[in-house]
Parts: sequence; structure tokens; C-alpha cells
Amino acid sequence: KNKYGLKMHDTLRKYFGYSEFRPLQEDIINDVLNDRDTFVLMPTGGGKSLCYQLPALLKDGITIVVSPLISLMKDQVDSLRENGVDAAYLNSTLKPAESKRIYDELKRGEIKLLYVAPERLVMSSTITLLKGLNVCLFAIDESHCISEWGHDFRPEYRKLNMLKKKFPKVPIIALTATATPKVREDTIQQLGIKDCTTYVASFNRKNLFYRIRAKKDTYHTMLKYLRKKKGESGIIYCQSRRTVDSLATKLRKDGFNALPYHAGLTDQQRAKNQEMFIKDRTDIIVATIAFGMGIDKPNVRFVVHYDLPKNLEGYYQETGRGGRDGLECECVLFFSRGDKYKIEYFIKQKGKKEERDIALKQLNDMVDYCESNTCRRKVLLGYFGEEVLEDNCGKCDVCLQPRMEVDGTPEARVMINCIRELDQRFGMNHVIDVLTGSRAKKITDKKHHLLRNYGQGDMHTKDAWLEMAREMVRQDVIKVEGARYPLLKLNRKSDEVLDGKRMVTFTRSIDEECQEDYEP
Ligand code: ADP
Ligand code: ZN
Repeated sequence: KNKYGLKMHDTLRKYFGYSEFRPLQEDIINDVLNDRDTFVLMPTGGGKSLCYQLPALLKDGITIVVSPLISLMKDQVDSLRENGVDAAYLNSTLKPAESKRIYDELKRGEIKLLYVAPERLVMSSTITLLKGLNVCLFAIDESHCISEWGHDFRPEYRKLNMLKKKFPKVPIIALTATATPKVREDTIQQLGIKDCTTYVASFNRKNLFYRIRAKKDTYHTMLKYLRKKKGESGIIYCQSRRTVDSLATKLRKDGFNALPYHAGLTDQQRAKNQEMFIKDRTDIIVATIAFGMGIDKPNVRFVVHYDLPKNLEGYYQETGRGGRDGLECECVLFFSRGDKYKIEYFIKQKGKKEERDIALKQLNDMVDYCESNTCRRKVLLGYFGEEVLEDNCGKCDVCLQPRMEVDGTPEARVMINCIRELDQRFGMNHVIDVLTGSRAKKITDKKHHLLRNYGQGDMHTKDAWLEMAREMVRQDVIKVEGARYPLLKLNRKSDEVLDGKRMVTFTRSIDEECQEDYEP
């Protein structure tokens, strides 16, 4: 399939010590060796590095690897050198003399793989250097960082869009473990590799068990749970450093081996705590999302989200650190609407409107995941554009203990009538304020307290109505339209509900579910 033939397998064995390729690796490597642009979406641990490292060894010339994490760069290069690969890196940690030495080695053709930080690569001096060398491949790791639609946008990545212009003949392989269809498109567009072949590996982690719990009496619920897992290794994620510190302290008082990890600790303390965890000298690490990049500990048996994560990408990555050995790992998320409001508040302080909109949309998807009564796996993978075909995954709370269903047709009718009376010209909050009989000025100013439906829904709280409205949107009996000012709209199914031709069922919210019957 390429001019290197059997050499591929020889190299795999000789330099990497593997006897076989993992799924997709061989096809991807074939494409790269044939100088095609490629886009690779593969979960963490799937084996992305090999897709450019192996071609780098076979191809004539230098492969440039763009990687955002300076700390990981050194580790990768060290381990490649140990295996006899001529690799080096260029970033801001190098002294001028060291950079000079690497420049000389490059010019003498003594380096096959060069790792470069993005901000370094786009400097005109680096470009000039590379122009004088025989560059045969660009590998862009964590390529989703180029897209503003991702959770991890980095401005210095944006400038990589000049690579294809400056080096039109050099193929690009873009790799990432996290990209929604939208981010994928944007990345390909930004890098100028429209005709690339795209490879998408399955993101389904079959050994992860997903569970959502109401965030109520959280510490004690968690304690009960941790007692059953005593001696096992786990990660507890929190949003703030303060929670991390206080939780780690409390857990130690309650007899657990727990250490904190966040960006407010000294480098030394952080490194030490991480090491203690990786070497199994402490069972639990309580951490902010600063923890985990590049960590490959096989035996993590539980991942708890003590607070609501900001988006599903992050959540997927964080839970993905569990069960790397293929054995079961339980992922528990404590959910409350209060957390949602908190995050929303922070988002609204942000600078640019586009950023705010993206962050709010991502937060809504996160909340939908928690509130939905569809298999967690289905929702999570669906978010990444992957379809789960099985009806019952057998490894999530929804599939194992379906929540109690109640007939919500009367409520649905009230809601639909109110939307109709408001001429479909108002958003969810306003409609519900009318329903619940709010005395807010915006209601009285518009004389909406005189409407027939005013106060018709005061048997439920505003939060309960919000949850029902979102569920109605999910069931497509009402619609949300408009990006800037989302309005509630009706459709054919809304009429069917009013005409008694369609029922609407709601599930009891997580908050109402009994906590005591919880058996992990
Ligand atoms: P990613 O970059 O996708 O997170 P890595 O490239 O770090 O994944 O690979 C994850 C692990 O899988 C590494 O320990 C790597 O050595 C191993 N690995 C990669 N390819 C193979 C293979 N063909 N056979 C066995 N192990 C592999
Ligand atoms: Zn399921």
C-alpha cells in the first residue's frame, strides 16, 4: 500500500517493541507515508503518537511535531531517545547554547523528529530555519486547540494556519482526543487541509460506569460510597482550589488516604502528590481540572465529580482517566442546578460575546446530559458525533435504574397554551414567569399579568417548570429558536398534545429521587 512495504512492521517491532498495530493505526500510517493530509480523532491512550512517530522514522527528512505542553515534550523526547530515535525539542525552557546545538544538529540532518511549541514554530526565525531543511511532515498534536469552538482554544495555535501556505508541499497530520463535529470541521478548515482523510476511532469506554447523583448531603453520600471503595485508587474533581483543600483535609480526618492537587500548590508539592498517587502511596487525589494531563495511571477505580464540570469535553477527558487497565471504573457526578447558576455567573463575566455564547451552549449540553433520561453513554458519545446502537448499555444509572415516569400531559398543555397566548414571541424564562404568576416588572409592564394563563402553573416551582420545559424541548413537543434571543415556538406535535392525540411523560427529577436506595 506504500513504498515502504514490510519495513513498517520491522520498525514497529524494532523501535517501539510492538508486534501489531492498534485499530486504525496502520491505515493512518499508510496515508501519512503516501503524503496525504490526515485528521485523526482518537481517545486518549488510543495510540496517536505512533501515527506520526513511525512515519518520521521511515520518511526521508525531518518531522516537526507541534505540541502545547512543554512538560510533556521533554518526557516524550527522552523516551524516544531511549529507544534509539533521534529526537529533540525546541521551546522556551532551552538556553541559547542548547538551542544552537539543536540548530546545528538539524542542519547536519542528525534529527528525525523535532518537537516544537506552537509559539516557537510560528516565529519568523524558526520558519526561515525550517525552509532551509528537508521537512517531510507536520504533526499537530492536540489540534483542537486551534478552534474557538473547542474547550481548549489557544490563540498561539491559530497562527498555525500559515503552515499550509508557507509549506504547501509538506503533508499535515492533525491529531486530537477531543473534538465535536463542529470543532473537527473548524480545525480542518483552519489548517487548510480540506482534502484530508479523516479517521475517527470509537470513543466508547465500555468499562466505565456513568452515574449522576443529586448534589444533596453530598459529603456524606460520598463518604458512604468511598467506604465501599476503601483501598482503591480514585480521583475526586472539584471546581475550586478551596474545595480541593477542604475536602482533602476532611477526608483525611475521616480516615482516608487523600492528597490535594491544584495550581495553587508549589511545583514541588504538586509533583510530590502526583507521584504519591501514581505510585499507589495514596489512594485518593482530590484535584481541580489542573490534574491529569498526560497522566497514565492504569488502576483508577473511581472518578468523582464533586461539582458540575463546565462542558462535556472536559468531563469525558476526566472520566477517561479511569479504568485505563480495561477493568471497571465508576464515574459519579454530583449534579445540582445551583452549580449551573454559579458557572453561568462566571461565564457572564467573560470578555467576548462569542466566547460567552460558546461557553453557555457547552454548559447547557452538560446540564442536558445530567438531566436527560436517555442512556448516559448515548448522550455523551452522541455529543462527539458517535452513535451508540445498543438500547441498554448496562453500565449507566439510566439503563440500570430507569427513573419513575409520570404523566405530564396536563403540564405540557398549560405550557403550550401559554406559549400560544404569548404569540410565540418570548423565551423560556418569560413564559415560565407568566405561568408561575411572577410580579416582576417586565411582566406587569407588558400587562402579561392580565393574560388568561397568568399564574396557571403556580402548583410547580420555577425550577420544576424549567426542567419540564427543557424536557419538552428534548421530546420535540416545543422548540427553541433563535441564537441571540432564543424564543419558545410551537410545532405540529404541540397541536397534537393540545388535541389529545399525544401524551407527554416526564421522569421524576434526580433531585426528587430517593437517595437511600443507592447501592453502587
Ligand atoms: P495517545 O497519544 O492517543 O493518548 P499514546 O500514543 O500515548 O496515546 O499511546 C498510548 C499507549 O499505547 C502508550 O503506552 C503506547 O506505548 C501504547 N501503544 C501505542 N500503539 C501501540 C501498539 N500498536 N501496540 C501496543 N501498544 C501501543
Ligand atoms: Zn446506558
